[in-house]
Amino acid sequence: MTVRSDVRTEGSPVIPTQVVAIDGPSGAGKSTVARQLAAKLGFGFLDTGAMYRAITWHFLQEGCAPAECAGDPDRGLARMRQALAGAKLELVSGAVVCNGRDVTAHLRTREVESQVSAVSALPFVREAMRDLQRAVAVAGPVVAEGRDMGSVVFPQARWKVFLDAAPSERARRRCQDFARQGRVVSESDVLEEILVRDRLDSTRSDAPLRQAPDALYLDSTGMVTETVVAMLLKFVRAGAAASGAS
Ligand code: C5P
Repeated sequence: MTVRSDVRTEGSPVIPTQVVAIDGPSGAGKSTVARQLAAKLGFGFLDTGAMYRAITWHFLQEGCAPAECAGDPDRGLARMRQALAGAKLELVSGAVVCNGRDVTAHLRTREVESQVSAVSALPFVREAMRDLQRAVAVAGPVVAEGRDMGSVVFPQARWKVFLDAAPSERARRRCQDFARQGRVVSESDVLEEILVRDRLDSTRSDAPLRQAPDALYLDSTGMVTETVVAMLLKFVRAGAAASGAS
């Protein structure tokens, strides 16, 4: 499996440090905040959830997503390994391209959402994603968002944030996202799905969702995006100033 970003990367054993690592549960607003923060800082933006979603989409296309393999798990794992080896993932100007096809529009379907936690719990998938995420960040500073950015992928990140919000607010925000896509979904269904994903993401054995001990905890309940971005911008700039960087 290979990845290509806008910036060419050669792959490297180096674990990058020029990273704003933002972790947190589903619907906490990480993507929106991280994208805006990256633009203001002139950093790259790494949406690692989109990478896991793209691999999940690919497994669904290949007919080997976890739910489809439940009857024969060993064969299922072998097929998923094979499908992963044959996946070429590219991150190009905010789009996710899998084997030459722009799959961005397919990443937020309920089919993908229902399988992505099971896919992302597979150690061989995580290992591949971890290497690719590091390779992207070696090419230049990034704002990287996900579940294990500060705890596992970029343990030496210069800035770490754990972005949280009350479950009801996270469900409300996700419903607004869906409404913008023209999808009407009940808030209680979305809340239930969010809680299931949180539980799966927090209890898996490999890289569970967890706040890194040295991360800034920020509860964004009741805050608008602009406020959260402004707070994080201040946090990053204060860290840069304290370490003498320009
Ligand atoms: O952030 P987003 O909702 O797009 O992530 C989708 C799923 O991908 C999460 O529920 C989680 O299972 C997985 N994920 C992960 N590690 C990351 C980012 C996402 O396991 N760093």
